[in-house]
Amino acid sequence: MIKPDLLLHPTPGGLYCPIGDFYVDPVRPVGRALITHGHSDHARSGHAHVLATRQTLDIMAIRYGEDFAASSQAAGFGETINVNGVSVRFHPAGHVLGSAQIEIEKDGTRIVVSGDYKRGVDPTCASFEPVPCDVFITEATFGLPVFHHPPPAGEIEKLLTSLRQFPERSHLIGAYALGKAQRVISLIRRGGYDQPIYIHGSLAKLCDYYESEGIDLGELRPATTEDKKSGSLKGAVVIGPPSAFNDRWARRFEDPLPIFASGWMMVRQRAKQRGVELPLVISDHCDWPELLDTIREVKPQEVWVTHGREEALVRWCELSGIAARPLHLVGYEDEGD
Ligand SMILES: [Zn+2]
Repeated sequence: MIKPDLLLHPTPGGLYCPIGDFYVDPVRPVGRALITHGHSDHARSGHAHVLATRQTLDIMAIRYGEDFAASSQAAGFGETINVNGVSVRFHPAGHVLGSAQIEIEKDGTRIVVSGDYKRGVDPTCASFEPVPCDVFITEATFGLPVFHHPPPAGEIEKLLTSLRQFPERSHLIGAYALGKAQRVISLIRRGGYDQPIYIHGSLAKLCDYYESEGIDLGELRPATTEDKKSGSLKGAVVIGPPSAFNDRWARRFEDPLPIFASGWMMVRQRAKQRGVELPLVISDHCDWPELLDTIREVKPQEVWVTHGREEALVRWCELSGIAARPLHLVGYEDEGD
């Protein structure tokens, strides 16, 4: 066995494997990048070579253009790929479409970089698979005992109830463009809502892509009523990225009901600050119990915590007899929480 630190360690550019000469989710352009998923804080353009799942490569091409990297290679789930003598395997992370954990193995030492992940059922992507390893590298976005995410079906029920209660108001849902928006649409459909759903222009390509990958989102229409005929969207469900809610786009709707779908909506103060009337606690990250369950299941010798609320999780590991340390990685701002 070789020391885990020699196989992978944090650098200012991201996690680096000196033996394989590659980075995982680098924050600056590098020669060889392994990418866990398409969120912009993990998948950046400008690398010479990118290894990622086919769906993540497709998503990068949609977001950055076909020339997002000089060259790329698709990794199938479970397939072993030799990178300069290091064995690399991708496994589902359950975060967004195409998201993967990356297993890195050399001479019997095995490290799993989980990227962003969640454990709850999500019909829009493959479910997280626990992979036994020596070192498990985890995020801790919601790494405090106060974070418990309720079942998403119940959150969607709140939305459907509001639609019945306020049939005149357009229900404006803020949801991140990759993953959250499609998951919310899919959940609304599962809740039995079959009316057209109106989407902001910036969601169109990714929604089309999800559809092309077999994820049924029902009838989607562009929410682009430039004129004042927005009366047609009275009582409609409208979905846009959170950023769009501060600009002119949001002002075209009459008496809109502001909604935000995010794990952060557990924190009332955050909802209030954003002027959210109906907070929906729907997260694509693990809550505290999911983080602990995952570590118990994976049974690593050691846990490294990349970003988020590292201290509490590190402390919990130590109290449970598992060596742990924070990596203090910077540059991962949770595009999709
Ligand atoms: Zn993410």
